[in-house]
Amino acid sequence: MVTPVTYFDLLDGLPQPGCVICNLLRRNVDRSLDALLYEYVGDPDVHRAFRRRRGLCNEHSWQLLRHTGNALAIAVLYEAAVDEVLKILEPGADPQAGRGRLPGTGGKPNAGLLADRLEPAETCLVCRQIGVSEAQYIRVFCQYLQDDKLKEAYRASDGLCLPHFRQALRSVSDTAQAESLLAIQAAIWKKLYAHLQQFREMNDYRRIMEKMGAEGDSWRRAVGRLAGEEGVFGLDPRSS
Ligand SMILES: [Zn+2]
Ligand SMILES: [Zn+2]
Repeated sequence: MVTPVTYFDLLDGLPQPGCVICNLLRRNVDRSLDALLYEYVGDPDVHRAFRRRRGLCNEHSWQLLRHTGNALAIAVLYEAAVDEVLKILEPGADPQAGRGRLPGTGGKPNAGLLADRLEPAETCLVCRQIGVSEAQYIRVFCQYLQDDKLKEAYRASDGLCLPHFRQALRSVSDTAQAESLLAIQAAIWKKLYAHLQQFREMNDYRRIMEKMGAEGDSWRRAVGRLAGEEGVFGLDPRSS
């Protein structure tokens, strides 16, 4: 069997701080945003997706703005999204055709119906793309949990974040995989818990002059490990 590239991505990524899957997905989000702005800005499928999602989800919209100086590409994509919103708001439009004003009401807008029509009609394009790679990372991670190299790298790492640990628990296909996953992750979180306790103790006024060790950033790590790393979970269904 050929070893998938994903396995090597995981192996390379595990020594980095944070959840390896979150980190790989962050890299993929960057690549997706780059591709959107530099390769697919004229693609009719992308325009359709921008119309139907009314742009991107909140998280990826702001990442798009921070990502690059390609203002023209952003303008082109959002011209399609804003045009779609305006079409829905058009007076006298037929509700059956997806428009918001009802006939026989003297042109009065049906506000509730309009609100429904303005809801996104599909998932954010970037959420959708990273959802596919996320499933692939989780699958390969679980598949190689009995591989010595991956197991060692996992044991020495910061562990998975809670959302990705849940996904991994749901993906393991046998008892040995489940046991490795549970044992390694629990040991990592016990260490984190001990660091949090040490951090609290070090903040006691009697110890305030002592130098902090690895526990110094445990509060920050705990937030990342329970919520997932910053910028990975957009607002669309995969993430909620
Ligand atoms: Zn994660
Ligand atoms: Zn998104």
